[in-house]
Order: sequence, then structure tokens, then C-alpha cells
Amino acid sequence: MSVLPFDQRDGFIWMNGNFVAWKEAKLHVLSHGLHYASCVFEGERAYGGRIFKSSEHSERFRTSAELLDFEIPYSVTELDCAKQLTVDKNSLQNCYVRPVAWRGSEMMAVAAQNSTINVAIAVWDWPSMFDVEQKMKGIKLDIADYRRPDPMTAPCRAKAAGLYMICTISKHRAERRGYADAMMLDWQGRVAECTGANIFFTLKGAIHTPMADCFLDGITRRTVIDLAKRRGIDVIERRIMPEELSGFEECFICGTGAEVTPVAEAGPYKFMPGVISRAMIDDYSAEVRPKQQAA
Ligand code: PMP
Repeated sequence: MSVLPFDQRDGFIWMNGNFVAWKEAKLHVLSHGLHYASCVFEGERAYGGRIFKSSEHSERFRTSAELLDFEIPYSVTELDCAKQLTVDKNSLQNCYVRPVAWRGSEMMAVAAQNSTINVAIAVWDWPSMFDVEQKMKGIKLDIADYRRPDPMTAPCRAKAAGLYMICTISKHRAERRGYADAMMLDWQGRVAECTGANIFFTLKGAIHTPMADCFLDGITRRTVIDLAKRRGIDVIERRIMPEELSGFEECFICGTGAEVTPVAEAGPYKFMPGVISRAMIDDYSAEVRPKQQAA
């Protein structure tokens, strides 16, 4: 399948306060963000032209930068506005939204206090996977060799480019071996998350999910927890060891990109996508649709 490279598309990218033609949204090869991973980003989706939980993403974006010791020079309101303008300018309805912030070229060593903070926002078409029946077959997960790091060794609450190094390696290995994604354990050997999504299990009508104490507490994760509670389903956030996986009934992952996706296998463990996964798919897709304006 040939996909048009991301630097060769048409449209407009918001860059440091202005729109630039898509192909002109460039950075210099000597950028601190590229060499030293002083770079944070967001992943969001617009549904029917409206970005789901835009302000929560803007807040996380700013917090991620603070955790990397820099400040994004735009407020949450300004970021929300710029993201919406970018969606509108590109005439997209159902799309992915990618804000990114990085340290520029003023200093090219480990210390980079005086570098300019650059911010760009790109959007591209990415329809959600509507075929629920297909989804209900469940995906297969590998178990990654790399573990999510100890919070003492990395700013693990940040959505920071550097933290994705082990995700890309793990996802490549998973795909080479015929899996859709990889489940990662944390530094203590507990179940953590996938390479770009959080993970949930079910047992006797309740939902169990790892505590987000050393990995990204996804906005979709929090939404799903909320939706489950609204249905009266118990949600238990706790330490989950991989050996326990044989006792669970259903498993699903969730994230902005993955939305809610059932899992059929994780390494040696098998699951049967069922009523709770289905309910969460349905509730999530209802939740993300823009609410009708009151007449
Ligand atoms: N974990 C990782 C490592 C991710 O990349 C993502 C996607 N941003 C998630 C979890 C889910 O986060 P969210 O629901 O905010 O998209």
C-alpha cells in the first residue's frame, strides 16, 4: 500500500501562529528537539468537525512541556482556537489532530535554556473504524521486551517524543511477528499499556485496569472509566500482574487513535470480546459525536 508521505501532502499547517502551506512546514536539521528529544506532542481526533476533549489535550500538551522544563508560549484557549482553525482551514470533519512543540536551533548541546519553543498543528484525514463486527473479532497483542520506565528515571506522565523510542521498537517487533500491537509491562513487571493505547480487562461484570502511575493516563482511558461508571459497571484500578491475565474474560485497549478496540490474544493469554467491550465501543462512539445544539 503506498501512502503519500506526510511531508508531501496538500493543505495548511499552523506553525508558530500562522498558517503555512503544508509542504513548507519545515524545521532545520540542527534543531534541539530532533537531537535531544526536547519535543512533546498530542494526538486528538475531530468528529463532525469538532475536536473531542480539545481543552484536556491542550492542558496535557502544556503539562508535558513543563515536565520537560519548557513552556508552550500559548494558553489552553489559544491552542484550542488554533486547533479548531486548522481543522476548519483544511475543511476536514473526521480527522486526526497533531499538535507538536519542540526546542529550536539556538543552542545545540544538552543545555538549551535559550532556545525558541516552536509549536505546529497538523491535521489529517483518519476515519474511525466503523465496522464494529470486524472489531469484535479482537486484535492480537505481542508482549514487549521493553518495559515502561520507573518514574524516577523518566518524566513518564509527559507525552514526550523520547518516551516513544521503546514503543516504536516494540511495535516493529510485534508487527514483524504478525501481531497488531504489543502489551508493555512496567519496570516492576506489572501490566502497563500498549505502545499507543491503554488496556482494560473484565471479570465477572467488572472492569480492571492498571493504575496509571508510570505511563500515560490517556484521555480516552478516563473517558471509558467515566462511561463504564455511568452504566453502573465497577472499575477497579489496581496492580495487575501478567499471570492474572488467564483469569480475565474480555480485554480491550483504548486511545485517541485506537478508540475502543477489543483484544483476542495477548501473548499466551486468550480473551473473548463480549458485551462489555461492545458496550464501551457503543458508548464511546456516542460520546465523541458532537452534541446537537439545543434549538
Ligand atoms: N498510551 C500511550 C503510550 C499513547 O501514545 C496513547 C495515545 N496518546 C495513549 C496511552 C492513550 O492516550 P489518549 O487516550 O489520551 O489518546
